[in-house]
Amino acid sequence: MNRTGLQVGTWLIRRAHLMDPSSGVSAVQDLVVEGGRVAALAEEMPPAEAAGRFGVIEAEGLWLWPGLVDVHVHFREPGFAQKETISSGGAAAARGGYTTVVCEPNTSPPIDSPELARRLAEKAEVESPVRIYFKAAMTAGREGRWPSDIEALAKEPSVVALSDDGDPVTDPSVMQGVCRAAARAGMLLSPHCEDSPRALSEYEEGRDPGFEPGEPYESETRFIERDLALARRLGCRVHFSHVSLASSVELLRRFREEGGGAGTATFELTPHHLLLSRADFGAGELPRVTPPLRSPADRGALQAALTGGAADAVASDHAPHTPEDKARGASGLIGLETTLGLVLTYFVHTGRLSPLAAARAMSTRPAEVFGLPAGSLMVGRAADMVFIDPDERWKVRADEFASLSRNTPYEGWRLRGRAVGVMVGGRMAFAGDSFRPRLNLKQEVAGG
Ligand SMILES: [Zn+2]
Repeated sequence: MNRTGLQVGTWLIRRAHLMDPSSGVSAVQDLVVEGGRVAALAEEMPPAEAAGRFGVIEAEGLWLWPGLVDVHVHFREPGFAQKETISSGGAAAARGGYTTVVCEPNTSPPIDSPELARRLAEKAEVESPVRIYFKAAMTAGREGRWPSDIEALAKEPSVVALSDDGDPVTDPSVMQGVCRAAARAGMLLSPHCEDSPRALSEYEEGRDPGFEPGEPYESETRFIERDLALARRLGCRVHFSHVSLASSVELLRRFREEGGGAGTATFELTPHHLLLSRADFGAGELPRVTPPLRSPADRGALQAALTGGAADAVASDHAPHTPEDKARGASGLIGLETTLGLVLTYFVHTGRLSPLAAARAMSTRPAEVFGLPAGSLMVGRAADMVFIDPDERWKVRADEFASLSRNTPYEGWRLRGRAVGVMVGGRMAFAGDSFRPRLNLKQEVAGG
């Protein structure tokens, strides 16, 4: 896991503004990394400590957050390596400030077995600068007909949730089987409550999803209601992907208020549903994405869910496509290299979200929901962290992305704040141009 050739694993980080939602600390501190973990925190280390075996990072003026965690990305291996690979997606994640991502299983073949997940995890260990986990398919072959081998998948350490991605399970009896097995195995479910083309044709063939389907792409709230009822009854944990409607947020709020029975429900918001609405595009062409961009009122409700703390995560739904596939109508937007800048520019710098609350939604809380060893810089935790220059002004240029794809709706946007350095397990996974002069490796080099 090393892209930049900076092999030093023992660091003294000086004068960073540490912001750690897991401990509530927001203060200028020094921090020591040894053996890939956070070894000590102090207001200021004695200068003698800096000598000898440490690499030094002069972090004055930078924010230091636990590495970002994105629980919804699409790296297209196996099957669609022309759109994104584990290597290019991992590099895009590192450039965006992420140290851990969770990949969706809509690959070809789909990730529905422990063997495939393990093979990909081994590949990621070699090829990706960031940590990669997987959602496995809820149903065999991602076909919605019967549950996958959930008991076996739950034993695979790289599998942290189950999802059929953009093809929701329309048959309620199949979904019930999935919920039952997931509850038994302690596995998180992460359904996409959207009407896919397959779902629409299944309704037409007479399948009853357990509610009356509405207009295409309007069933999100009804799907959530169905799955919440199963969670309540069967005691499973459900994390809803890319919630996009005000009515869905309201339903989730009520579920939590009522205690949720035996189950729990969490949810994520995407930057595009938080920032864009269909009204912004007038008669122009909307960016094609599922769920589609919604009304300004829906967007307002999502923003309130983020700023009020109801939303558990911001997730990019990074969905790379080639220009040819986009021209053919492929749905999805990339987001790993823009999400942090968007959240800083539109929520933190506008005073609507504190830096700690932003770090919570982009790291600590998604790590908790998915049971990932991330989201904290307390002593003893993995040295996974992002150095942020909160004031760097930059312009989004897709041709500079590490992602293989360019399908961003933010081309040319001017943003304030970005990741300048990323450490994963004590190794620098990304060091931007403005960050490199802050690295002092000479002690380590001198020591051989
Ligand atoms: Zn997705």
